Amino acid sequence: MQSVCAPRSKLPDVGTTIFTVIGQLSAEHNALNLSQGAPNFACDPALVESVARAMRAGHNQYAPMSGVAALRHALSAKALALYGTLYDANDEVTVMASASEGLYSAISALVHPGDEVIYFEPSFDSYAPIVRLQGATPIPIALSLEDLSIDWDEVAAAINSRTRMIIVNSPHNPTGAIFDEEDIARLTALTRNSDIIILSDEVYEHVVFDGRRHESMACHQALAERSVIVSSFGKTYHVTGWRVGYCLAPAALTTEIRKVHQFMMFSADTPMQVAFTEALADPQSYLGLADFYQQKRDILANALQGSRFELLPSGGSFFMLARFRGFSDETDDQFVLRLIRDHQIATIPLSAFYSHGAPTGLIRLSFAKDNDTLLEGARRLCQV
Ligand code: GLN
Repeated sequence: MQSVCAPRSKLPDVGTTIFTVIGQLSAEHNALNLSQGAPNFACDPALVESVARAMRAGHNQYAPMSGVAALRHALSAKALALYGTLYDANDEVTVMASASEGLYSAISALVHPGDEVIYFEPSFDSYAPIVRLQGATPIPIALSLEDLSIDWDEVAAAINSRTRMIIVNSPHNPTGAIFDEEDIARLTALTRNSDIIILSDEVYEHVVFDGRRHESMACHQALAERSVIVSSFGKTYHVTGWRVGYCLAPAALTTEIRKVHQFMMFSADTPMQVAFTEALADPQSYLGLADFYQQKRDILANALQGSRFELLPSGGSFFMLARFRGFSDETDDQFVLRLIRDHQIATIPLSAFYSHGAPTGLIRLSFAKDNDTLLEGARRLCQV
């Protein structure tokens, strides 16, 4: 239909997300899909039964705005047991309709026009657009593409009186990098005596490899006091389509975040919340996840030994980076397109995770796939 109004775009340079674009291309070319960080295998059937039972038991109306009480208590108990910080189940835990909603609510509740928000590139694609929608300025700081580290001196130089928030993400999408004690120490020192809020995307909190521990902001009191932690059930229980996540934050921050959440979603799906409450009763449901995905990382990495790619180490998340610059001068986009068309294998160009979009010579591989898909994917990549 012809529109009679010409909208003035708030995000004129934003197109369709890379996950949708690659997903469509992958389907058109009948490619194997190692692009999106979404499992292609089933969740525990008991979880589906649990949702069905909740529906049959009549849990089909609005949940409380802040989330089903039993779920908030279970999340509070989990954070205390794993990370040592007590979040009040009534005032400091909010169930969201996805981690994406948690990120959106936190940024729009806490960031004002004219503020600056520091984040790290490559980064998940939603952070910067959400900041810009607030009339604020996203300030990207590049991770080293040699060792995926953060140059904290550069962060120190970027902080000024307009800096309202720093967005961190460990384990990191798209690189698989994880925070270590040094990162925590630098972040603590840089934010001490400031009113900078930390927004910590921890959706891969249970996917940390090689026996290392997840450096949650909730492990460190000085950081927890200024942090909004966003996490998700989708990644942890292999149900990314169910769209249930949550925010943990001190009461004063939670109060503001809920003001946005109550007008955006009001509440998250009730039967899923009932089912996740049951699932959390068994800690193995999340504690076993690191080994499960470490095996997948290793299957893919081992099967790629004979390829021409240089793999960067992945310490967590669903992702690892593979460098093709050693054997191709193509841009990331050209390379990914050629892989889809000529080799029927879909990956994500790393350049898509940057505001500048310049080529990096790297692609992101998702190993959240069944083992046959990983092996067949590696076989195709070995032919490139
Ligand atoms: N988080 C997933 C990824 O990075 C998918 C995100 C999406 O499709 N919007 O692949």
